[in-house]
Amino acid sequence: MSAPLHEIYAIKYAHHARRASENFIGGDPHDGPMPLDYFVWLVRGGGRELVVDTGFSSAMAAKRGREHLRCPTHGLRLLGVDAASVKDVVITHLHYDHVGNFELFPAATLHLQDLEMQYATGRHMREERYGGAFEVEDVAGVVRRVYAGRVQFHDGDAELFPGISLHLIGGHTMGLQVVRVSTRRGSVVLASDASHFYANMEQVRPFPIVYSTNLFMRFHDQWFYLQFLMLAVGMLGIAGLYVTTLRSGGGAIYRMHAVNLAADLADRIRANRGANVAYAGAAANNNCYGTGSVDCAPALMAANDLLVWQQQIAAILPGGNGVVAVVGAATPFTYTITINWTESGGVATSYALTLQI
Ligand SMILES: [Zn+2]
Repeated sequence: MSAPLHEIYAIKYAHHARRASENFIGGDPHDGPMPLDYFVWLVRGGGRELVVDTGFSSAMAAKRGREHLRCPTHGLRLLGVDAASVKDVVITHLHYDHVGNFELFPAATLHLQDLEMQYATGRHMREERYGGAFEVEDVAGVVRRVYAGRVQFHDGDAELFPGISLHLIGGHTMGLQVVRVSTRRGSVVLASDASHFYANMEQVRPFPIVYSTNLFMRFHDQWFYLQFLMLAVGMLGIAGLYVTTLRSGGGAIYRMHAVNLAADLADRIRANRGANVAYAGAAANNNCYGTGSVDCAPALMAANDLLVWQQQIAAILPGGNGVVAVVGAATPFTYTITINWTESGGVATSYALTLQI
């Protein structure tokens, strides 16, 4: 029997306006704004719902100077999921922004790597550069959960459910794991902090919080070999959530949504590499999404992606529309994603994102 296909929702719950130099070992010679968004993920399919990571609270956001947008459990509620009744939660690693709030999932078994607990309770935690992103109360709370018999440990790679597997990566922490999920588009890897940005992976420049750059390199090599689609800061499935918080103001918020919407299409293109120039074509409803959907060939999926994406832009940005230009006859293709909208006062504004795939 083939593995069930799943849907993945990325729930953005926090934001940090930071500089590029904070996101790479050795800084960045072209320093500039490079904000970081924080996500938890919901995986749905095969008759079950799995949550990956639990985020952090508004109190923790205040303590660490992050902008808290919503409790992750509120994001889940918008998707019809009650955190209190979730049965399985994967904790990719025990950093404060991945395991805070775990007590809001009282019925859940937490899935954790042996090495991560060893790391979070061992000798490295005496050093700020290793322990700084952990919160002792989170770790102590998970230890209590171990004694209550509700932490399932994994020693390396494991199939959690049909079509959902865990993979020990390390690198960022000793026991970081990623989650591989079967979807209609093939395998999707929820990379968590294995790579914070595509740039960490694509330019082989690790994020500064790292237990072992050696392990990071191993993941890097594996990633190119396996051609995983990664959702580290990806946006698939999130855009619909924005609608509830919009229409309240212009300016910066419209720009933020334009950036997110462009990133959303970039992820769709990455997830559908075979479509190539079809992303410069016409939008169409090919029934690739939603209930009763069918498996679509890459070009049909691209046309449907464009339709859904353009509908989102129109719903979110005043006078909004989006276009894609593709240059090249063979890989790597250069995609330029442009989003246009009208600011208050009738000022025509646009945002463009260029990527090579
Ligand atoms: Zn981390």
